[in-house]
Amino acid sequence: MRKIVAKFGGTSLADAAHFRKIKEIVSADTDRRYIVASAPGKRFPEDIKVTDLLLSCYEKAADGQPFEDTLLAIKNRFQDIISDLDIDFPLDKEIDIIREHLSTKPEKDYLASRGEYLNSRILAKYLDFHFVDPAWCVSFYPDGTLNEPMTKRAMGASLYPLNHAVIAGFYGADDEGKIHTFSRGGSDVTGSLAACAVNADLYENWTDVSGLLAADPRIVDDPRSVEYLSYRELRTLSYMGASVLHTDAVLPASEKGIPINIKNTDRPEDNGTMIVRKLPKGETRYPVTGVAGRLGMTVIQVEKVMVSDGSGFSAIMLDILKQRNLPFEQCLTGIDTITLVIRSDLIADCKDDLLSEIQSVLKPDFLGIKENLSMIAVVGEKSTESSDANIQVLYTLKKAGIEISTINQGAGKLNLLIGVPEERYEDAISVIYSAIDESQNVAI
Ligand code: ASP
Repeated sequence: MRKIVAKFGGTSLADAAHFRKIKEIVSADTDRRYIVASAPGKRFPEDIKVTDLLLSCYEKAADGQPFEDTLLAIKNRFQDIISDLDIDFPLDKEIDIIREHLSTKPEKDYLASRGEYLNSRILAKYLDFHFVDPAWCVSFYPDGTLNEPMTKRAMGASLYPLNHAVIAGFYGADDEGKIHTFSRGGSDVTGSLAACAVNADLYENWTDVSGLLAADPRIVDDPRSVEYLSYRELRTLSYMGASVLHTDAVLPASEKGIPINIKNTDRPEDNGTMIVRKLPKGETRYPVTGVAGRLGMTVIQVEKVMVSDGSGFSAIMLDILKQRNLPFEQCLTGIDTITLVIRSDLIADCKDDLLSEIQSVLKPDFLGIKENLSMIAVVGEKSTESSDANIQVLYTLKKAGIEISTINQGAGKLNLLIGVPEERYEDAISVIYSAIDESQNVAI
């Protein structure tokens, strides 16, 4: 028997109608044995996600403000689902436990996790599956980072004996039983860990779109959808802003080569996007898989004659960042220059300090800073081998009069990273998309 781990996101579990769709999807293939559930998401654009309601309850309680109205809104969301599906569920008792927690010593992660906890218990009851609480098997260190080896072992031990189970996404616990959550959207990570732990044949990630689009549809009209992409391509695209899957969700599944299929709960018949280790041979695909980007970048430029003469200039530069716990996005070096790309929000409070430290430690010939930049990633395993896609991209930007601040491409040729002014970000994405879309399909 094959094993499929199927994760359903917030919009796929927002109301009773979606619970019914999930039941149809799960019953249609008995290999869908392990279901990972999110908290109820938005039912319509102005709606509020249950996780956001819980966080707002936490903030009110922590502030000593009344929270009953918000707690009632949360209870009503679950009550609507339970009543509509006609399920016997002790909701009053569960809400009392949350109220009690809020009134004593509210903990943010505990509160944030209750949406997944309640929704998964309800879904387990509705599907007649076992319920697995990740507090038993998704293991965190007390500092809130994931204990991955322990989690994989414990998840395997919890899930293997069960033929069918629903496990709540997004959270786990440390040795003391204290609840910790992943970052937002983290149920994707739970799903990937579960797939890895049970050696699944497939990890399905059910959401509200039929897969990954080659560009942001808020910028580009009707971008094509991507049928296949590699784990590496997806990691880059999602890191650079394509929001179809949590960035950390790729690694556990990819470790075992488990394909990830992004599917649409409202259109289960669509193939969606398949994310795999190696792209299938003979498929026709575009040389560039997709384009994505991020705003809010700052570039620091340091010039000194012979920075790369082996005297450790670059190492000292990077050590300054390390001492400040400051991650950088890119580090480009030339004979006499080092250019660092750093997220602007991370240096907002220490920019002047950082520049004076660089000045006093490295005594550069020139030190400059450029703010309000965006970074665009043009991603494709085949982009440089099979076409002149990169040349085409750069030429297109020049033709559109868009100034290029930085260009970065490693030897791996997976992606071309281009820095452009924030105010030209959308123009740049549009013209790049048109250029790559006009490229010929190639057989790989
Ligand atoms: N419910 C959480 C969130 O809204 C986690 C998730 O949906 O994956 O971010």
